[in-house]
Amino acid sequence: MKMYSCEIHINQALDVFVAEEETFPIMVKVKEEEKLSTKCEYCDTPASYLVANE
Ligand SMILES: [Zn+2]
Repeated sequence: MKMYSCEIHINQALDVFVAEEETFPIMVKVKEEEKLSTKCEYCDTPASYLVANE
């Protein structure tokens, strides 16, 4: 599982991830150059974080 999230929705993304995967994810900051092409799962803001399995 892999999710992108902005600063506002990061808690929501973490909750969904933990509920679905039953494990705590790693959280990685999205690089500036990748932000432009990557949107948050919950809104149209460019993603700041990638939440994923290790
Ligand atoms: Zn968002």
